[in-house]
Amino acid sequence: MKVVLLGAPGSGKGTQAVNISDWYEIPHISTGDIFRSNIKSSTELGKKAKEYIDKGLLVPDELTIDIVSNRLNQSDCKEGFILDGFPRTVNQAEKLDGILKEMGANIDVVLNIEVEDSQIITRMAGRRVCPKCGMSYHIDYNPPLEGDICKNCGETVVQREDDKEETVLQRLTTYHKQTEPLIEYYEKVKKLVTVKGQDNIEETTSCVKKALGGI
Ligand code: ADP
Ligand code: ZN
Repeated sequence: MKVVLLGAPGSGKGTQAVNISDWYEIPHISTGDIFRSNIKSSTELGKKAKEYIDKGLLVPDELTIDIVSNRLNQSDCKEGFILDGFPRTVNQAEKLDGILKEMGANIDVVLNIEVEDSQIITRMAGRRVCPKCGMSYHIDYNPPLEGDICKNCGETVVQREDDKEETVLQRLTTYHKQTEPLIEYYEKVKKLVTVKGQDNIEETTSCVKKALGGI
């Protein structure tokens, strides 16, 4: 199964990507996670990416496309993968088409998680993430253990640098301008399936399951 996930920041893409990766036993490729791990270990890529991420802007394509291309060409992606956070621009989508063509592969489905802006802003304020294993939480909808402890690995969860309100607003603007046109891009080739992202994670998960069920 080869899946692309679309959705605004905070739409719950990452949470659903983990589910889909488990169901189909396919690698979860998150460009955001790749950048964050590079930032953490202070690589050249991390230093450059941080400047954009902290402002709520997209990391330039010349830093992004090769990373995804290299990752998709690793052997564990042969049977499938789930792309979370890529493509984010029409140019990236066109580049992805080229990469897949060379691999002799095709996207099976583009899953679009739809959430209203007002809901996203409320959600982001409560989002916490585990700096060690990447698991994401919400203080009300999906809380970590007592004392802000990650259920998965025991680390203390934190608020992401780019989840501050000003940055969230910029990320939303960036999404509407640069990423939303991908909905039409994938609609045209009949790959798009849209589900409503609700605050109840289990409900969203069951919608996602149903949407992928026929595939
Ligand atoms: P979210 O979807 O919640 O905004 P991500 O973890 O997917 O968070 O991405 C965090 C940041 O990393 C983005 O705001 C952007 O700056 C950068 N980023 C991630 N993926 C890409 C991409 N495909 N192209 C450009 N920048 C990206
Ligand atoms: Zn953890």
